[in-house]
Amino acid sequence: MTTRALRLSPKASRLARAGRLWFYADDLTAGDVTPARIVRLQDDGKRDLGLAFTSAGRIAVRRCGAWPLTIAENGSNAGTAGSRDAIVPGREEFFANRLQTALANRGETVRIADAGGRLVHGEADGLPGLIVDRYAEVVVLQVTSAVVEAALDAIVPVLVEATGAAAVIARNDVAARRHESLPADSRLLHGRRVTATTIVEHGLRHEVRPFEGHKTGFYLDQRPARALVKELARGREVLDLFSYQGAFALAALAGGARSAVAVDQSEAALARAEAGAAANQLTGLTTVNANAFDHVRAERDREARYGLVVLDPPAFAKSRREVRGAERGYRDLNRLALRLLAPGGYLLTCSCSHHMRLPQFEEVVRQAAAGLPFPVVLRRRLGAGDDHPAVVTHPESEYLKVLLLQRPES
Ligand code: SAH
Repeated sequence: MTTRALRLSPKASRLARAGRLWFYADDLTAGDVTPARIVRLQDDGKRDLGLAFTSAGRIAVRRCGAWPLTIAENGSNAGTAGSRDAIVPGREEFFANRLQTALANRGETVRIADAGGRLVHGEADGLPGLIVDRYAEVVVLQVTSAVVEAALDAIVPVLVEATGAAAVIARNDVAARRHESLPADSRLLHGRRVTATTIVEHGLRHEVRPFEGHKTGFYLDQRPARALVKELARGREVLDLFSYQGAFALAALAGGARSAVAVDQSEAALARAEAGAAANQLTGLTTVNANAFDHVRAERDREARYGLVVLDPPAFAKSRREVRGAERGYRDLNRLALRLLAPGGYLLTCSCSHHMRLPQFEEVVRQAAAGLPFPVVLRRRLGAGDDHPAVVTHPESEYLKVLLLQRPES
């Protein structure tokens, strides 16, 4: 299949050469973005910039990496100014190739029976608008690009073949789909309707409900941080703020914590934390159904002290406009949480706001630590696990920031 290349304006071309992946309709000087399809992208000098997905939505062009130009199509010099009609692969060939590469990079997560992990992470796997998570026998997709949506018939069989999944589910109840004029719905794409399954992470069983859980069912991105919490928790009293189904609290108890308190505003999430403790034969969990802001203030007022506090709030900055207010929220919460540390105590603090970069988050934490009657030591920086790779020139793909802070012993 050949199709006319899309060309970027001089300004957009400079950004593309610097690694920018997303472009808007007014960045284009030639070619149409409709219908949504895979195209070759060119810079203003007609040099090849690889493949891209087009869309009639807000983000008109999403680059998806290199793909060889054939000699026949491009004269003798692949990668330089090419013919007017440049080759693009058929969608089956394209998706099979990209998915195989992504799965090969995930190693055993693809096959271990009770594993949970991300198999495809959008741009970093050359598949903009596609997330694929695996939870034991269930595979969950999140689709936010029209090109991917139209290619599901090519994508699903490859995933079923590679994982042996009993169910493939689309969790498409996300706002981002509106920008692509795609309906927000969740549905079964293959197999039987599995409403709950169990994954094992760091030796702990976690129940995952693919149709109703947060994100695609579970916060897979915090796996490295949960390992760290398990490692640090021995003998400590632990406070897990914004706990959801208590994954951190359970990791702490499995690591030998004396007690763990899980705080969340969702009664249903806390019920599942309790069930999780029972399923793993862990004792010492208390759940508190409260607004976490109110709860930390109450804990401050009664001068409570903890050996380990986990602070993993939802994204406060959902857009660039909200960053200022979000900074205030993070600062207040972090200051309150730091005050609850016993000498030698740790705070594991997280931000999953795409619009707040690591230096900004570290500045907020610095401000939170200023004026406390003890120093605060930065022990470690973490992020999402290796199954959530990021394109370094596309900051949106690196959203999770995790810092391990400590109040020194004396
Ligand atoms: N730490 C969890 C993920 C936390 S997600 C894990 O690793 O699995 C954020 C959680 O914060 C959600 O469960 C949501 O119900 C809860 N939440 C949001 N706002 C809240 C508030 N003001 N007070 C308490 N919980 C809140």
